[in-house]
Amino acid sequence: MLGLTFLGTGTSNGIPVIGCHCHACTSVDPRDRRTRCSAVLHLGERNILIDTAPELRLQALACGLTRVDAVLFTHAHADHVGGFDDLRQFNYLAQAPLPVYADPKTARELRTRFGYAFSDPLPFYGGKPDLRLHEFDGPFELFGYPIIPVPVLHGGWTVYGFRCGPLAYVTDAKTIPPASLALLRGVEVLVLNALRDRPHPTHLSLAEALAIVEELRPRQTYLTHVSHEVVHAQWSERLPDGVFLAYDGLRVWV
Ligand SMILES: [Zn+2]
Ligand SMILES: [Zn+2]
Ligand SMILES: [Zn+2]
Repeated sequence: MLGLTFLGTGTSNGIPVIGCHCHACTSVDPRDRRTRCSAVLHLGERNILIDTAPELRLQALACGLTRVDAVLFTHAHADHVGGFDDLRQFNYLAQAPLPVYADPKTARELRTRFGYAFSDPLPFYGGKPDLRLHEFDGPFELFGYPIIPVPVLHGGWTVYGFRCGPLAYVTDAKTIPPASLALLRGVEVLVLNALRDRPHPTHLSLAEALAIVEELRPRQTYLTHVSHEVVHAQWSERLPDGVFLAYDGLRVWV
């Protein structure tokens, strides 16, 4: 069984934004509280964490996440890697190293920023993450499931979405090149970033995201990486059939 839990659905500053008094930031609707963007892909009994948001510890506590079997990184922007150190608790719980997958550029960034985690191992678990960093340059297999990295453009930077059978997770895209759209064809459940109504230089707006949905026609689409310009209840009323605004803690099954 394939599924996905949204740990966080907010853009890089998180919602509410510090010091902001806008409609979303003062909303009492819990769906308007968005931690930084991250998810757990459920492959049968296995939990695959996608990105380590700054709130990873709080997200894990909120969702009852006590086991992580592998980590996939989309890219190394701070809102996607800031919770990296909290991976060590999953080492401690499993008493085992944790496989981590990233493209070569992201892997390089991780080694630079979190060098302490890749230097000499500690003789016990809990002190720092114990990771086995694998660089992907194409599709690979994870616990018997095929994982297809999907390169998308985040402004001038190539970042990666991931497809596993009928489910795909794409965040921080501004443009999906034709070859990557081809990799997403036939997907039944699509997670796609949609920042806000206004255009943005490095993120899809709602209209741009809906154009991709129109092209791919998945059965269900969940929008994520959302800014404080979006009030959950208001967008939900406007979205076409089969398109939903995700929120922190939402779990979907394929
Ligand atoms: Zn981001
Ligand atoms: Zn605000
Ligand atoms: Zn980013």
